[in-house]
Amino acid sequence: MTLLEIRGLGKRFGGLDAVKDVSLDVEEGQITAVIGPNGAGKSTLFNLVHGFYRPTAGAISFKGEDITHSSPHRTVAGGIARTFQTTNLFDDSTLLENVLAGRIVRSKSNVFDAVFHTPRHRRESRINEDKAMEALEFCGVAEYRHDLASNVPQEVQKRTAVAMALATEPELLLLDEPAGGIPEEETVDFGNLIRSLPQQGVSVLLVEHKMTMIMGLADTILVLDHGQKLALGSPAEIQSNPDVIRAYLGS
Ligand code: ADP
Ligand code: MG
Repeated sequence: MTLLEIRGLGKRFGGLDAVKDVSLDVEEGQITAVIGPNGAGKSTLFNLVHGFYRPTAGAISFKGEDITHSSPHRTVAGGIARTFQTTNLFDDSTLLENVLAGRIVRSKSNVFDAVFHTPRHRRESRINEDKAMEALEFCGVAEYRHDLASNVPQEVQKRTAVAMALATEPELLLLDEPAGGIPEEETVDFGNLIRSLPQQGVSVLLVEHKMTMIMGLADTILVLDHGQKLALGSPAEIQSNPDVIRAYLGS
């Protein structure tokens, strides 16, 4: 099944087409990657899908529902989570607190429940804690749960960002350079974490610079160049595409 359908998507900033006429199907249970040189429009594409930017052309639908003009909050509540190119953890909070913040979007209790510690609020707090711990464990960082985000290594921060996104119980996870800044020797393990997501019911749309990682991970790769689609195909097709070699891999 096609989870995310992007059709003729465009975003102009002043005179610049950051994304132009991009179409892409993200299939359920797959890892789809977006690659391209710096400034190719990868992060802009993510911001469009997630509702941070309004497209200037085209349409996006998720599970058949039009989300072209959906707000980020509604997008997350609808089942799309993301991590940011620059990890945005709360530095002065523990990893557990950070991941708990990801649960807010699933919250059904209100201020009244919170202030008066209603049974609903207590029940929800317990579930949130369980889900947050589950996400930390899945991402292999549960042992750091009481450490402040600013005190753990970059790789642990990156894994926690994934845990935070998973805590929202997404069906689609957008990862913007999830392994950025991680030492080369850690990327295999990190790749394995991403690879295990589809079995958990989480499909992945991924931007990543580490080529070897992408080629071993992605089912389908979209190559962007100057905001436009240069190529789309399997890792083998992309690696042997002359346009891609010329514009990107060869440079
Ligand atoms: P990538 O993530 O592939 O490196 P981006 O999507 O960040 O590329 O940027 C694509 C182009 O759009 C770049 O030329 C960038 O300068 C421009 N751009 C991105 N965001 C904005 C913005 N908010 N305002 C103006 N220009 C932007
Ligand atoms: Mg980017």
